[in-house]
Amino acid sequence: MSQTLKAVRGTRDLLPPETALWNRIETTARQVFARYNFGEIRTPIFEDTSLFARSVGEETDIVSKEMYTWEDRARAQSEKPQSLTLRPENTAGVVRAYIEHKLGETGQLQKLFYIGPQFRRERPQKGRYRQFWQIGAEAIGPPSAGSESPLRDAEILEMLATFLDELGIAGWTLELNSVGSAADRARYNEILRAALVPLAPQMCVDCQRRAVTNPLRVLDCKVPEDQPIIETLPKIGDSLGQESIDHFAAVTAALEAAGVPYHLNPRLVRGLDYYTRTTFEFTHGGLGAQNALLGGGRYDGLSEAIGGPKAPGIGFAMGLDRLVLALQAAEAVRKDAAPQIADAYIAPLGEALNAAALTLARELRRADLHIELGDGAFRLKKSLEIANKLARRIVIVGEDEVQSGNLTVKNFLTGVQTKVSRAELTACLKKPAREVPA
Ligand code: ATP
Ligand code: MG
Repeated sequence: MSQTLKAVRGTRDLLPPETALWNRIETTARQVFARYNFGEIRTPIFEDTSLFARSVGEETDIVSKEMYTWEDRARAQSEKPQSLTLRPENTAGVVRAYIEHKLGETGQLQKLFYIGPQFRRERPQKGRYRQFWQIGAEAIGPPSAGSESPLRDAEILEMLATFLDELGIAGWTLELNSVGSAADRARYNEILRAALVPLAPQMCVDCQRRAVTNPLRVLDCKVPEDQPIIETLPKIGDSLGQESIDHFAAVTAALEAAGVPYHLNPRLVRGLDYYTRTTFEFTHGGLGAQNALLGGGRYDGLSEAIGGPKAPGIGFAMGLDRLVLALQAAEAVRKDAAPQIADAYIAPLGEALNAAALTLARELRRADLHIELGDGAFRLKKSLEIANKLARRIVIVGEDEVQSGNLTVKNFLTGVQTKVSRAELTACLKKPAREVPA
């Protein structure tokens, strides 16, 4: 006996009616981002592995153990096989596209958003999957386009607050920090390295490695036993240069003026190496252990790190899977979860009438009505039973109806059954079912 095939561990099928909720989130994102003049970008799902190694960082969890990477066979003898990777995040792809298409030469700030699946080989649990979806956006451009301005940071954070509010996700917290410039970070890394010499041997094996290779990553550690030690480490805020301090002060001042609440979190560093200065997360209490709805920040040196021009930027990525969970936790979605009720169910009385029923359905659907099409093989009783569950009305297509052009319509809400001419049918079906007669 062959084994039943199942979706691969860490991946899952999204089914209706839940997909309606996914669509609502995506639609809200598109609407809100459009008001801030962001345009959509779609980058490939796989990229050259070195893109992620150079941007996300070799020492990060993502690159060191979570990527789906394979050697793509060479097409010709002269070609070397290419190492390819399913994208674990989308910022690297966006910045690669920015460089490849010379978007910097427009001299303007590029405001781009994306919606799509990402892949990480993580331990699957609630809110953590191996294929998950992100909605993200990036504002990137040459410094002359204002890409370094703290106003950009504040605007993006304000946009996120607006998006979550419009979506109906209550009770989010904006956790905010600055990790300083590349120079500040390098200085802090050395301070951490020194501080970790006596402490690392008491920490988890990952931290023992990070303490040497990339001490900042120690702050990412999720091992509970390591947390009291991490609490004692020097804070990055004390290593910031004056420029970083001023930049961050301008961000928080703008947020306060706009009335966006935030919480300063001096331990917040992001799991990717490319972040500089402003870093943030939006968390939500209803999510349990996976409480981060989204994360982001500035990446002023990223473009240069992958061979591009100077192009400071700021962006974020939201976990769509987690937005769905947060909305479900808030029980704000009961209405969306109800199966969609069609405007009408078309019931052909006999298989010979199937074609006529399809023709009618085509006409009504083109008039923007939601139509369920039955089948002439069903008896009328069965059609009525199905229709009652799926639609507000049933339209019966019998031999007489086709001849006379008058269709039998039954309104399930009022129980009234009448004849409606084909010319009036569309208007009739568009009327709320509460209005009698049909
Ligand atoms: P976490 O700390 O939860 O692992 P992260 O720091 O790895 O998050 P980012 O790489 O910044 O997260 O991704 C941004 C957002 O994408 C996260 O805040 C989260 O909502 C979502 N996300 C990240 N990894 C996953 C995953 N494996 N499954 C579902 N959502 C995810
Ligand atoms: Mg992670």
